[in-house]
Amino acid sequence: MAISLIVAAGGMGTRFDSGADKTETAPAQSKLFYSLQDKPILVHTLARFQNIPAITEVLVAVPQTSLPTVKRWSRTYQLKGIRWIKGGKTRAESVWNALRQLKQKNEWVMVHDGARPLVTPDDIKTLCREAARNGADGLVLARRVVPTLKKVAAESREIEHTVDRRDLYEAETPQLVRKKSLAAAYERHPDAFAATDEASLLEYMKAKVRVVTHTNWNPKITAYQDLKLAEAYLNGAAPALQRTGLGFDCHRLVPKRPLYLGGVKIPFSKGALGHSDGDALLHAITDALLGATGQGDIGEHFSDRKKKYKNIRSTKILESIMLKTRKLGWQVVNVDSNVILEKPRLGPRKRAIRRQIAKLLGIAEENVSVKAKTAEGLGAEGQGLAVRCEAIVTVRKVA
Ligand code: MG
Repeated sequence: MAISLIVAAGGMGTRFDSGADKTETAPAQSKLFYSLQDKPILVHTLARFQNIPAITEVLVAVPQTSLPTVKRWSRTYQLKGIRWIKGGKTRAESVWNALRQLKQKNEWVMVHDGARPLVTPDDIKTLCREAARNGADGLVLARRVVPTLKKVAAESREIEHTVDRRDLYEAETPQLVRKKSLAAAYERHPDAFAATDEASLLEYMKAKVRVVTHTNWNPKITAYQDLKLAEAYLNGAAPALQRTGLGFDCHRLVPKRPLYLGGVKIPFSKGALGHSDGDALLHAITDALLGATGQGDIGEHFSDRKKKYKNIRSTKILESIMLKTRKLGWQVVNVDSNVILEKPRLGPRKRAIRRQIAKLLGIAEENVSVKAKTAEGLGAEGQGLAVRCEAIVTVRKVA
């Protein structure tokens, strides 16, 4: 069987409140951009579905304002085969938007909440297996209700009775439904866009929907506390492995050469002498990254004896090392650096340099620090004969 997956991530999370810990800094982003072990919540969620053979198409509905940011994620986090689309005002509207934009003629559609990042690939596969096996129109991942439930009077809050929970289940996602049944339910349900899940739409059509029970923890991240709990859970399951690397570089300053620092061209009468473009800051960062991940040093990867690397841009060098770093399963956490340079003043260019480095390393700008120093007239740097850079990079194992 082949399945189209729709991930509903269109809401802004109005019940979620915290000013801190955002992975991305763009304004008006959804709660799913908040960081969970250094990756946006939504990226965790999507990663859980990356290696499910039955899923052949993936659409993710996000707020329109988030589209430019998420489109970069496919590359940054190596997510395969995802189409990002604009979400609706409600969850059901987002799913409807996605439903109309499916390209494949798959019989089944799986819908999942972007805010459930802990669903296990095993439970997803179980759902697929069950759908192939039994004749239902829909299947819902669910858990038995465990707490004791009381029915109370609306006004007085007096208990009327204890609810028999033997047949009560909490509906989660993913929910796997026949596309035909879901589309028909959207057409006929009087208030389809208010539905909180796919099963309730199908129930209205008197379609057969079954629960598939599981015993894992698949919470919906609704409040900020849920995020902290999920993080504690993940840290307990596998504490993230972190490493730190140190980098240094120094280049002579001479006339008739451009001056590049952090991938940004700095207007100045002199530039860095070197086999490459002489970007001492990027070289220091690249070496720190190589050091943190046990990949040797820059000379082993880009020898200055090779003609083909003559005048190579250092952004290309770092991009190539980043690719190798990602393949080894490392993700950059942050970088701190010093640029020791007498002239020119770097102040006006610092923001552009940070932005460029953030882009190259696939991290947010606030995780990049560039500190400009002079050498107070002392030594080669102080006399304006050289530029010297130091960098320290921290990485975290993510795969
Ligand atoms: Mg160098």
